[in-house]
Amino acid sequence: MSEVNGKNGGAKPVLWMVIPCYNEEKVLPLTAPIFLKKLQQLAGGGKISDSSRILFVNDGSGDSTWEIISSLAGQDPHYLGISQSRNRGHQNAVLAGLMEAMDRCDITISIDCDGQDSIDAMDEMVDAYWAGNEVVYGVRSKREKDSWFKRTTAESFYKLMNTLGAEVVYNHADYRLISAKVLKHFAEFGEVNIFLRGLIPLVGFRSTSVYYERTERLAGESHYPLRKMLALAFNGITSLSVKPISIITGLGMGVSALGLVIAVWAIAKAILGETVAGWASTLCVVCLLGGIQLISLGVIGLYVGKTYMEAKHRPRYIISERTWEPAERHWLEEKE
Ligand code: UDP
Ligand code: MG
Repeated sequence: MSEVNGKNGGAKPVLWMVIPCYNEEKVLPLTAPIFLKKLQQLAGGGKISDSSRILFVNDGSGDSTWEIISSLAGQDPHYLGISQSRNRGHQNAVLAGLMEAMDRCDITISIDCDGQDSIDAMDEMVDAYWAGNEVVYGVRSKREKDSWFKRTTAESFYKLMNTLGAEVVYNHADYRLISAKVLKHFAEFGEVNIFLRGLIPLVGFRSTSVYYERTERLAGESHYPLRKMLALAFNGITSLSVKPISIITGLGMGVSALGLVIAVWAIAKAILGETVAGWASTLCVVCLLGGIQLISLGVIGLYVGKTYMEAKHRPRYIISERTWEPAERHWLEEKE
């Protein structure tokens, strides 16, 4: 895929930027030229190939987003567009773009189309790729421009995810570089509910982070209200972890232990004759049954959780290198 750069013998990777767009007619005309400028600057600096592309993914927009994308594609061959048959949400739009790009490029960078993520972080991402990383996460160092509400809910989102066993890179959204090599392995993850932030780290390979400051939208409004963010968090947790089920089992054990203590106390009270008839036996039954029921639910849940994980048919191993294969890795190619 990559062209050979006659000057230094190193291969210049073909980059595809993948940009999901949902009802973005206000912002797209402002940001599209910014993406193109960055692409040309990276190509001019010899970091990427001239045949790199900007791929817009229209996520079933109801406004003129697709017309804008089509007209951009007519204006400059670097712009390309695909359109989903209906709105499927941000994660699926990014996935569609990445899968479309996978066989046609060496590296992808996914970025939102609203100009919130600093475009200049792309230079560092490409440098990190040249240094041997296959995945580079864009991490927000500060979110001062976000409202207090957005910042607090977003930061709690990452904390909740990690507490419940879905390990995600803190303050990293979907601005990241992924090599085509990693994407080809990722394509083997056959699950339908995708949470890219949690799944890409599962593929493995060498990765690093670059830091940038998140700014305000250049135009238009956010399509990620609290409702969608909570849905994303729950989807992420339940896709990646069965920890909530273990919490139920633990709770059941705790309640059972407490039940036992209360039962002993109730029996003691009954023996001492300090109770009305039937009180102690009723209390014992309620406490013990409550505990047993919760433990049973947890145990059933563990099996259901296992079935769920098995049903995903994720690859059981991924091999990154073999000694008998020639090293394809671009970073081994010495620059003169
Ligand atoms: N987006 C999408 N489908 C949706 C919602 C959003 O493709 O159903 C895109 C949107 O056009 C933008 C990105 O996902 O490029 C992030 O959305 P937004 O900026 O509204 O979210 P926020 O940055 O406020 O969290
Ligand atoms: Mg945004």
